[in-house]
Amino acid sequence: GVRVRFAPSPTGFLHLGGLRTALFNYLFAVKHNGTFILRLEDTDQSRLVTGAAEALQRDLAWAGLHIHEGPGHNEKCGPYVQSERQHMYKQYAEELLQSGHAYRCFCSTERLDAVRKLANKVGRSTAYDGHCRYLSAQAEAELLEKGRPYVVRLKVPRAQHDDANSHATTHTHTYASSSEFGEEVLQTVVEDANYGAVAFDNAGIDDQVLLKSDGFPTYHLANVVDDHMMNITHVLRGEEWLISTAKHELLYRAFGWTPPTFVHLPLLINPDGRKLSKRMNSLFVDHIRKEGVLPLALCNYVARLGWTPPADKENHVYPSLDDLARDFDLSSLNKQPAVVDPARMTFVNRRCLREASTIPLVVEQTRTYLQHHVVPALTPNIPHFDSAAPEQLLAPPYLDSVFALARESLDSLADVPVALAYLFVAPQQPLDVAVDAWDADVLRDAELATMLGDEVVSSSAHDFTADALKTAAKAWTKQHKLKMKSALKTLRFFITGQTAGPPVFAIMETLGRERCASRFNAALT
Ligand code: GLU
Repeated sequence: GVRVRFAPSPTGFLHLGGLRTALFNYLFAVKHNGTFILRLEDTDQSRLVTGAAEALQRDLAWAGLHIHEGPGHNEKCGPYVQSERQHMYKQYAEELLQSGHAYRCFCSTERLDAVRKLANKVGRSTAYDGHCRYLSAQAEAELLEKGRPYVVRLKVPRAQHDDANSHATTHTHTYASSSEFGEEVLQTVVEDANYGAVAFDNAGIDDQVLLKSDGFPTYHLANVVDDHMMNITHVLRGEEWLISTAKHELLYRAFGWTPPTFVHLPLLINPDGRKLSKRMNSLFVDHIRKEGVLPLALCNYVARLGWTPPADKENHVYPSLDDLARDFDLSSLNKQPAVVDPARMTFVNRRCLREASTIPLVVEQTRTYLQHHVVPALTPNIPHFDSAAPEQLLAPPYLDSVFALARESLDSLADVPVALAYLFVAPQQPLDVAVDAWDADVLRDAELATMLGDEVVSSSAHDFTADALKTAAKAWTKQHKLKMKSALKTLRFFITGQTAGPPVFAIMETLGRERCASRFNAALT
């Protein structure tokens, strides 16, 4: 079956690009009843960020991506943390040395720096110059004898007479094609499911370090060994890794392993056409979560970054990741860079909120958001909560009705504590401010206002539902030959302290008769 992995390095927090990679892998796994694996690539110990591994897992869980295998999940092919697999990589590097596909390099950092500087100066490639590749067996033995530290490098096939080549070419597709000058050019071809066959001149591929002198593998060795050992069938990752894939291809051949199917995903770019910066705060999933974007909205948005849904679903809000997975298809991936447009994300979030009644997942995700982010923001205001018990206002039944109002009027749930603060705290403005805020056709007469309070807000002659309140207010304005607009504005201003917002009768129903009456009376006195 299909086995895919998300293999982040815990060197930072999950950003939109990482989530896109994770999501596409997840959707592909779900679509094919396959396995989604999380592997932590922490071989570059100097770049590790404390807490990043935990945060990555938290963010994936929040987004709704379930890990089938990974650290702490069904550890069949574990460990899933590369620093715990150290010994395996050494063993495989050794195997490559023996088969002649890799060599020891004893060059000092000083020499490498000098070579690189010189290359820069004369405008040549800064790739390793191959000094140790051609060491005699005797010279190598002597350096080993002296205990000189070394790294292991990949012996990238260079020319037909190269002895590593004769070995490599037998079971590789390292093609020799002709350059325009008629000489042979060695190429490594990556077969990519999205980009097709992509050829790289071997001359441009560095003799990559596979194992560092401290025994730690580099990304390339660890990645290939693990993908093989974890039986990964498809590698979905960002296009920026395509160049590395040539090295990986060579490694698979050197080991005699069948490579997985490579599927590179188009670059993500800013609306200005530049490459997305990984440092931009607003691109981190944690930030997006706190901004009140629902996980489902985010996934609906991110799914379109490099994938085109069926024509009739272009603006469709998928109600779950399973539904998304059903439509997800490698053949509908794009090659062109995908533009990350935060305004579009807000738009999708708004759509997701509006369609909530048909989407139970959104109600659940909203409840979680309100409980985690909005409740703490409101808690300092508890002493000012009007005539209602805090535990009632901060509990799911009330929060659900808050959500019902929010989804009609807000772009983001993060706006709830400010835009809908009056659902928790009574407005505090003195009446003269209120009167100033009224425009000419608003009920100005204190006597009439008092009547409105008594006959519509406090009256127990009708139910306190939005519909019943509307009927009562209509009858009342008709009786007094007033405009409905006047009554509406007065009710809204007295009860919420605002001049605009969700439908006022819906607000009143949410607040309840007692709170509405006490606010209305307070505004009058
Ligand atoms: N550890 C790499 C990263 O940080 C993994 C790339 C890959 O998927 O091979 O993205």
